[in-house]
Amino acid sequence: MFRVTIDRQACAGIFACLVRDDRFVEGAEGLATLDPEAAERLHRSDTEVTAVFAEGRERAEQAATACPPDAITVEDIDACEPGEPAEVGGCR
Ligand code: SF4
Repeated sequence: MFRVTIDRQACAGIFACLVRDDRFVEGAEGLATLDPEAAERLHRSDTEVTAVFAEGRERAEQAATACPPDAITVEDIDACEPGEPAEVGGCR
């Protein structure tokens, strides 16, 4: 499992991420977001979008590398982090 975070305050809407990983999509306000249908869990706030995925880490890392303002973080996580907020999925 790994978590992808988009820092919405750093994102400049350049969309280099979209062509590296199709789980990145154009969201409201011309900023990148993550496809909730592709994620195990997803949470949005005013400052960031976080989503947990089980597969395809390499594509997410390519998107992070391609992002000019370094708005994307990819990190390993445990299978479930109790208390983690989520609009899709969630820990039980
Ligand atoms: S490449 Fe980075 S700055 Fe551009 S839309 Fe994606 S997250 Fe935002």
